[in-house]
Amino acid sequence: MIAKTGEDFDIIILTGEYYDDHPLSPVGVIARVLDEKGYSVGIIEKPETDAQFTRLGAPRLCFCVTAGSMDSMLHNYTPMKRKRVDDPYNKVSSIPNRAVIVYCNKLKQYFKSVPIVIGGIEASLRRFAHYDYWDNNVRRSILFDSRATILVYGNGEKQMLEIADKLQKDQILKGIKGTCIISKETDNSFEILPSFKEIKEDVKMFCKMQKDFSIYKNLAQEYDNNYLLQYKYPEYTSSDLDWIYSLPFTRKLHPNSQLKMAKFSVVTHRGCIGNCNFCSLSLHQGDRIISRSQENILKEIRLLTKHPDFKGYIDDLGGPSANMYGMDCTMSPSCKNDCLSCKNLNRSHEKLISLLKKSRKIPGVKKIFVRSGIRYDLTLDSNEYIQELVEHHISGCLKIAPEHFSKRVIALMNKDNNRFDEFISAFNRYNKKKKQYLKFYFMVGHPGDNIVETSYLKEVITRKNLSNVEQFQLFTPTPMTVSTCMYWTGLDPVTLRKVETICDYKTKKKLKRILLDISNK
Ligand code: SF4
Repeated sequence: MIAKTGEDFDIIILTGEYYDDHPLSPVGVIARVLDEKGYSVGIIEKPETDAQFTRLGAPRLCFCVTAGSMDSMLHNYTPMKRKRVDDPYNKVSSIPNRAVIVYCNKLKQYFKSVPIVIGGIEASLRRFAHYDYWDNNVRRSILFDSRATILVYGNGEKQMLEIADKLQKDQILKGIKGTCIISKETDNSFEILPSFKEIKEDVKMFCKMQKDFSIYKNLAQEYDNNYLLQYKYPEYTSSDLDWIYSLPFTRKLHPNSQLKMAKFSVVTHRGCIGNCNFCSLSLHQGDRIISRSQENILKEIRLLTKHPDFKGYIDDLGGPSANMYGMDCTMSPSCKNDCLSCKNLNRSHEKLISLLKKSRKIPGVKKIFVRSGIRYDLTLDSNEYIQELVEHHISGCLKIAPEHFSKRVIALMNKDNNRFDEFISAFNRYNKKKKQYLKFYFMVGHPGDNIVETSYLKEVITRKNLSNVEQFQLFTPTPMTVSTCMYWTGLDPVTLRKVETICDYKTKKKLKRILLDISNK
């Protein structure tokens, strides 16, 4: 069983988050998977003092280090680079800046010879050379700065089992799909990305690197006398997900857990076919959908109804975009086309509708909420889905993210709002007898945005009378996204055309101020 004290663990995980034995917690999932395969796992949460780092002694196989489900810099700073302040649910200050590097350096101090595996969002999306907004400069791969043995990217269950197995057999950690290592050499199974030196000196080479990124290829990047090698992502199947989410999670949450509102959430699938340019999900867990089987999800819901704390409400039934469940395609991952504009994509939502209908009928279930975001433009090919959602699965309001109304900005985000009004009409049609409403999310400061475009956004919001604007998010250039590449290079990486970018805080503030009176209404 997973223990939190004592010595002689096979693997010890150090995490920047509180530990929850829950399928929505990345550490919780890795711990369960390892435990299921017979490895003993110790967990150290948010270590600060030397005594906390050394509390469990040295593990038999390796340490695993993660900042948690968010990059520590994003966690600690606002988009204007101001330090975030603590709130009752989140002791912000207890995670150091660049947590992965700090944790690894501390472990190196006490346990020099123990292998260290790094993973989670911070490691995954800093695996190659990347632009760092907080340094306002290009940094090398985090694998060099952390001096860890190996880096796991994406969801790491298969990778961690293979790493543990190899360490158990005293084998070297090489050739493991879904990982990166540092090597003195490369071979012709790797596609060569522009080197660290090249991308630092030439923005066009930075764009080339961005265009060449893929989780489906072996990639190599040169750093002086070394190569950073990425082994392509392992294939995760529907049955893999069924197995992972059927593990005996107790759903016991830490008193300060961020999952309190999601205790009885159920994951339906992984991946997103949206490919929004400001999002890094496709370079983390892939741009193809892998759905769990319907029977497996229903079985999990039936089990939840027996949980002593369950009051009849499923907090969320979803994935990265809730309505992409069942949109798996047999052509993936070899296909290089864009799913959203492909005629092979089954947009009927039939699998999701069937799942929702059957889930509702499970004895003990009073209501199933869909709180994960939905890709609203996709829903327009299935009126039945909109009806299902509006009539049965909304908790008073449905949040959608049009992001912007400027054609120029939306195109640079790789999104499309052409059918926005159509969606509003469909929502209102099914919402007639209910008092539910829509909430909107917008983003300002994205490449292509400026005072004129933001003023236009304000004008359209006012004209369309969108009274429930939840948030105007200021674009933050996070590592590895296409939008971040535009922000740093001032170029569209695909066309190499110039893109206007706003980098000074004065103008960023002005953009927010333009919209302030709308959000204050
Ligand atoms: S065939 Fe179409 S739906 Fe299938 S993976 Fe390719 S682009 Fe996506």
